[in-house]
Amino acid sequence: MIKKIFKEKGLRMSHPRLLVFRELSNSKNPMSPQDLYQCLAEKERRIGLTSIYRCLDLFESLGIAFKIINGSRVKYKLCDIIEHHHHIVCKRCGHVAEVHFCDILDWSQRVIESTGYEVTDHQLHFYGFCKVCKGLRS
Ligand SMILES: [Zn+2]
Ligand SMILES: [Zn+2]
Ligand SMILES: [Zn+2]
Repeated sequence: MIKKIFKEKGLRMSHPRLLVFRELSNSKNPMSPQDLYQCLAEKERRIGLTSIYRCLDLFESLGIAFKIINGSRVKYKLCDIIEHHHHIVCKRCGHVAEVHFCDILDWSQRVIESTGYEVTDHQLHFYGFCKVCKGLRS
């Protein structure tokens, strides 16, 4: 999948990119750049933290990965779908669900009317409590 996306975007599938992608796709939980660095180092695949950051930035900009910001901690998860979509983040456990629909055309129209900009893209994240955490919230 990753190779196809890279090919479409005209990007080179470098060794670090492939390793970071593999590590993320093998992990059940979102990973921080430090987590990735450690996992790769344990497998004798030492990649500099800077290149890991660069890979993750790239994945995020391609819409392959989602950056979860929780205070000063940053983690990344791979997206299940490549098509345009949104995310909801649980404020308690940090779990992220993909929102497969996007219904903000009216809103875009209002942005265009009120600013005179041409809208090309948007980002929107939802925050709340997941099914498990909903009940535990006191
Ligand atoms: Zn996603
Ligand atoms: Zn939760
Ligand atoms: Zn959208």
